[in-house]
Amino acid sequence: MVMGLLLPISTFSMTTLCYCDSKLAFVRCCEPLLKGKLLAQNAEALMRSRYCAYVLGDFQYILDTYSQAKRRDLSLAVLQQDANETQWLALQVESHQLTEPGATVQFSAFYRYDGQLYKLHELSRFIIEEGHWRYVDGQMLDDCGKLRLGRNDSCFCGSNKKFKQCCGKN
Ligand SMILES: [Zn+2]
Ligand SMILES: [Zn+2]
Repeated sequence: MVMGLLLPISTFSMTTLCYCDSKLAFVRCCEPLLKGKLLAQNAEALMRSRYCAYVLGDFQYILDTYSQAKRRDLSLAVLQQDANETQWLALQVESHQLTEPGATVQFSAFYRYDGQLYKLHELSRFIIEEGHWRYVDGQMLDDCGKLRLGRNDSCFCGSNKKFKQCCGKN
């Protein structure tokens, strides 16, 4: 029996770290949510999984996890158009608070667009609809925008590595 060919693929996917910076394996973190096998248990989990969907270009998941009211004004084409040129590099979740009737999550996400680095610093609002956490909207905080980061500066993701050896590698 030839089994050698299958092993590396499954080993790789079992150990790939989740894109949401949880330090957990992707298969044990956001993948089950993206595949619809598990529901997000709270707003932060949904936010993290939506970030992964952006990284992976899973726009159907992005669309499905918007609130019903927002979804009416959106389409896959619109989401793709906005996001196709964007390369997501890192996520840092800063806070998660329950509010009435939903929750807020504050995070920083870092991305490259047209050769330039950017920071998105957002306070997102979430609600529960029919037992599912959904994204409503986000407020962009003041320090959003272009990042000036040299290749020898420390990386924004908090790894203590130089940017060029970390998120700036590709
Ligand atoms: Zn994750
Ligand atoms: Zn980094």
